[in-house]
Amino acid sequence: QGDPRLKAISEAIRVVPHFPKPGIMFQDITTLLLDPKAFKDTVDIFVDRYRDMGISVVAGVEARGFMFGPSIALAIGAKFVPLRKPRKLPGEVISESYVLEYGKDCLEMHVGAVQPGERALVIDDLVATGGTLSAAIRLLERAGAHVVECACVVGLREVKGQHGLNGKPLYILVEPR
Ligand code: AMP
Repeated sequence: QGDPRLKAISEAIRVVPHFPKPGIMFQDITTLLLDPKAFKDTVDIFVDRYRDMGISVVAGVEARGFMFGPSIALAIGAKFVPLRKPRKLPGEVISESYVLEYGKDCLEMHVGAVQPGERALVIDDLVATGGTLSAAIRLLERAGAHVVECACVVGLREVKGQHGLNGKPLYILVEPR
């Protein structure tokens, strides 16, 4: 909270009003990736938090969880597991669907990517309702993993204590602007 790096991280995220549809304030993290200092600070903050938590798997949510997850996984000596949209993964998968504002979506994970008893971190760029992270948690728990925490760059503070993540802790760096 008193971390001076957070202000620069927040300011590096571009807000695009009415994208992809009217009323949505889209938090565009691609501009954070364009700022090497803010990008590195973002990864470093996660790495400092998770390096000694015994995490063996970092699971990233397609697509923007893929932009942070692998760097964190490499730095803490964990494997990276992509949680993908339907029909992208070639092997045998397990699936979890979740409700969106309009309609439904689904995440898939390869069978065998995670072993029972593994300690997992779930990463995405942003949490809004928590529906996406909840589906990710269900996938990992079905594989027998223990979800230690979910982490996002951007999130609403109200979401933090919410029950939507099945009681799993949520760690966010900045609030949406
Ligand atoms: P939710 O499942 O409601 O928590 O939504 C989180 C997912 O939707 C994440 O994968 C985000 O990338 C995406 N998302 C939702 N709202 C926004 C927003 N305002 N700006 C950018 N991405 C968003």
